[in-house]
Amino acid sequence: MAVNHDQLATYVASCRSRFEDLLGQMVEIPSISMDPGRSDDVRRMATVAAQVLTDLGAEARIVETGGAPIVSGGWTTGTQHPTVTIYNHMDVQPAQEPEWKQEPFAFKNEGGIYRGRGATDDKGPALAALLGARFAIDQGLPINIRFLWELEEEIGSPHFAAGLKKRAEIPRPDSVVVSDTIWIAKGRPAMPYGLRGLIGARLTLRTGSKDAHSGVTGGAARNPLGELIEVAQACVDAGTGEVKIPGFYKDVVTPTKAEIKSFLKSGFQVKRFKEAYGFRSLRTDDPAEVTRRIWAAPTFEIHGLTGGYHGPGVKTIVPGHGELKVSMRLVPNQTPEKAFALLKKYVAKLNPDVKVEPEGMLHPFKGSFEGPYVECVKRAAKAGFGKEPAFIREGGSIGAVVTMQKAWKVPILFLGLSLPEHGYHAPNEYFDWGQASGGMKAFAHYFAELAKMRKG
Ligand SMILES: [Zn+2]
Repeated sequence: MAVNHDQLATYVASCRSRFEDLLGQMVEIPSISMDPGRSDDVRRMATVAAQVLTDLGAEARIVETGGAPIVSGGWTTGTQHPTVTIYNHMDVQPAQEPEWKQEPFAFKNEGGIYRGRGATDDKGPALAALLGARFAIDQGLPINIRFLWELEEEIGSPHFAAGLKKRAEIPRPDSVVVSDTIWIAKGRPAMPYGLRGLIGARLTLRTGSKDAHSGVTGGAARNPLGELIEVAQACVDAGTGEVKIPGFYKDVVTPTKAEIKSFLKSGFQVKRFKEAYGFRSLRTDDPAEVTRRIWAAPTFEIHGLTGGYHGPGVKTIVPGHGELKVSMRLVPNQTPEKAFALLKKYVAKLNPDVKVEPEGMLHPFKGSFEGPYVECVKRAAKAGFGKEPAFIREGGSIGAVVTMQKAWKVPILFLGLSLPEHGYHAPNEYFDWGQASGGMKAFAHYFAELAKMRKG
């Protein structure tokens, strides 16, 4: 069953005031998961979100996880039909930045510019997907559409896996769409298909019970900071970024030429990248190489070195102890467990007195770059935004994605609607009608494409 474009356009236009009204209600709830003082607002957000689903005719329930709840709901048209779950989150980042030009939780609609915390991350995209689904259901498409709205995404989804264990309330779908990512440039849909993983580590070295005078003890005393710097230098080439831990690159799947070509189609610009992050210079200025490095290559990063004296002037002590804080970004098929084991083994050889402890662990994610679901995403983006998407990867990690992959082992696709200028995790966040209406159309088409696929 094909989507009638005129009918869809009429439907989307007719949805506008409803979309704006609902987005306003949702943005005005300060569902800041990071702030324990806002737990009542997070709960209220779950109640309102479930109400939005039922008001649109979907079934909805609030699922307890041990932390903030998950809202689960949708439309079931028949068990013989394919089921797709759309993932969004309803919690938001804090909004204390002094640059806010308005009260962050007072929704403002300036002629299709929707201002307020959470408008683009991720309440606006969630509503666009929901209204696109409503159209698909009204058309009688043979598809089951479910929504999974998390309320702890901004704090790393600590109870998400526990929630997914409740199979009766959160059933396993045949595929997933995550709508919580940002394009690289306006007018060029960009959909990630991979995320880097992460393993942090603290390297500590104690050579004395306290700091000692360097005039009295220096020369004979060991210097833990110097030794930790030596370890760091043995692990990474600071000039090139090359990781020197033996075996580190062994499992790395290098991106193909087609993948790099697709990265460049996203509208990525080295100049804009440098401006956005305030960099004076980079290790390379070649756009293909920059995108490969930030999206598809692993790293070893030094975040901090503590111990010794940090006050004004120079205090002549030999520190008794030092701590080096590092992390590694990982790509498919690396695992945080193995990367940590390699680091630990190597450091033991370099300096057996250094203690290595892991901190935070996220597996990398690699979805499909080709295949029937990717074709559906391509056609959906084209229908919604007039252009096929560029397939990119994300340098960061979304814990919930890896959790769903582990729990369900089904294809996970991305259909994000946010733009870089929307102020994701930044002051003066907004969403806009162009992305919302394009998103509704893209989702409606996506559901129609999926309905054509056989259940499997
Ligand atoms: Zn988000």
